[in-house]
Amino acid sequence: MVDSALLWQSFAALAADSMEGRRMGTRGNAMARKFLAERLAQLGVSPLVPGYVQHFDVTWRDTSARDGVNVLGIVRGADTTRAVVVSAHFDHLGVRHGEIYNGADDNASGSAAVLALAAWYAAHPPRHSLIFAWFDGEEAGLRGSKAFVESPPVPLRRIVANVNLDMVARLDQNELYAAGATPFPFFRPLLQATAREAPVKLRMGHDLSQPDGLENWIGQSDQAAFYAKGVPFVYFGVEDHADYHRTTDDAERVDAGRYVAAVRTIADFLHRLDESLETTVPRRRNR
Ligand SMILES: [Zn+2]
Repeated sequence: MVDSALLWQSFAALAADSMEGRRMGTRGNAMARKFLAERLAQLGVSPLVPGYVQHFDVTWRDTSARDGVNVLGIVRGADTTRAVVVSAHFDHLGVRHGEIYNGADDNASGSAAVLALAAWYAAHPPRHSLIFAWFDGEEAGLRGSKAFVESPPVPLRRIVANVNLDMVARLDQNELYAAGATPFPFFRPLLQATAREAPVKLRMGHDLSQPDGLENWIGQSDQAAFYAKGVPFVYFGVEDHADYHRTTDDAERVDAGRYVAAVRTIADFLHRLDESLETTVPRRRNR
């Protein structure tokens, strides 16, 4: 279900020094979003907004950034009345004191994974519309996702779920976490079915239930913007590692086999979700 060559090439490109750490408002960030938009056009993924880009106002300390830019594509399903937003933030920390923060795991990994998922669905149309979103400014306080839910290009009531990917490559313990099944228990059977078939250890937690004292991650990435609007979410990611937010978060430290396995696991979950959306996720009230 996932083109592993496309996945790895996109991951390596986004995590390369030439992208200069993809910080919001920088040249490297603009290169990353150009890369994404060009791939989307090649893959036949439709733009959700003209040119795939959604600009939003931002004033951010210590930068000249005046706007942030989300990249948004859509593959329409047979049923266009419901949509799932599959997301990853593409920005990272940029260059500090002459050193590039490549953010390979955080979050070139999720960005390339969402691209690989978009590629697959462009060739195999889903039952429900899938919006593929690369958010800017996550590292500056979830700016892109907040802007998206404040000015959604489709009515928010049609967005029935968010599947967010942030740090999905560094499976040092061969473990991937899925957060969201505690506030939204209707996801649990799908995640359990996915876990039974998964090539990685898929564990639930890091949400409102903290049975092992696990930190609550709901506020840690772009799913928080959806959660704040009452949109159910599943977040996929790994535990923090020694290279988190350091200059050593590089592509060379990623085990390609485990990364591909993680993305296949997420693809399997997304497939199950799309197949069962009517019965799994309650329809949202008009708002
Ligand atoms: Zn991140």
